Amino acid sequence: MAEPTWLLGSCWRCDGDDLPVMWIGDVQNRDLGHVPFYACEPCMQRLEDLMRAHFSLAHEAG
Ligand SMILES: [Zn+2]
Repeated sequence: MAEPTWLLGSCWRCDGDDLPVMWIGDVQNRDLGHVPFYACEPCMQRLEDLMRAHFSLAHEAG
């Protein structure tokens, strides 16, 4: 796997400006189609927590 690429920009989750942000995937919208979503490191951590919670819930449900 390639190292994640950080670039300076705005975080789409916390609205912070001039932060190192990383592309985390595309978001989908009926009118706009696929749009790249960028998040800063603290928001990435939070999203990772949510992803882990998602899988533990899915595991418990299964
Ligand atoms: Zn952020």
